Amino acid sequence: MRTTDKLYYLDQYLYRAEARIATLHAEAIELDRTVAFPEGGGQEADIGTIETPVGAFRFIWTKRLYGTPLSIEGFTGVKSGGVILHLVHPDDIDRLGALEVDMPVTITIDVERRARLTLSHTASHFLYAAALAHQPDLKRLTIGCHIKEEAARFDFLVETPFHADDVGAIQSEANRLMADNLPIITDHLTEHYDARFWQYGDIYIPCGGTHLETPEAVGPLQVRRKNIGKSKERLLCSFDQAHINTDDYHVGTTRHLEVVS
Ligand SMILES: [Zn+2]
Repeated sequence: MRTTDKLYYLDQYLYRAEARIATLHAEAIELDRTVAFPEGGGQEADIGTIETPVGAFRFIWTKRLYGTPLSIEGFTGVKSGGVILHLVHPDDIDRLGALEVDMPVTITIDVERRARLTLSHTASHFLYAAALAHQPDLKRLTIGCHIKEEAARFDFLVETPFHADDVGAIQSEANRLMADNLPIITDHLTEHYDARFWQYGDIYIPCGGTHLETPEAVGPLQVRRKNIGKSKERLLCSFDQAHINTDDYHVGTTRHLEVVS
């Protein structure tokens, strides 16, 4: 079965790498390996550029398809393998015909966007952990999450809307947790590379996203609520004083990096 090597799991700070075209789709390019993080776990996808022998192609989204479900407790819904598609900008689609399978390419992601998504994703874990600390049954009432560059949110199915006091308590708890500034561990179970988790002190969440190594750069978290329909409440966090840092990002120079698929 065809799989795409996930270089972002090998090293989440890779922003450029050499690859080859694996398959061409009507509106997307599939490579044998990629540094682009596909949409998943609420985190928006990377965007960027694929330079080829016949010119550059912009990609406006990255998505993962197929894969085999893992049968590991706590990781239901997580899949291993799969292929990753880079959705080509509408203005570049008509040039896809000039590409051929096995052509060498260089893929580069928008590193500023990745850094922002990584910070937002990290912040979202503190919002969620604080919400659950305040009201443990929110865990089973969670119906979705969305992690964007400038904010992150969770949606819940609740009988009573959140009160201003709830929001205040959740915001305080999130900021208290982050003030400890403990190391954030992003790793995978020994059983499988795709069984990934986020850990902060004794808070453990299965998660395949990209995260900061400490919460410091997030700065103070602002939490607010919004009603999004009958019995549906949204908690949002933003981080106006965040410090976006791309210094740790670097180029993958070799093709013989360990294969992660
Ligand atoms: Zn995460």
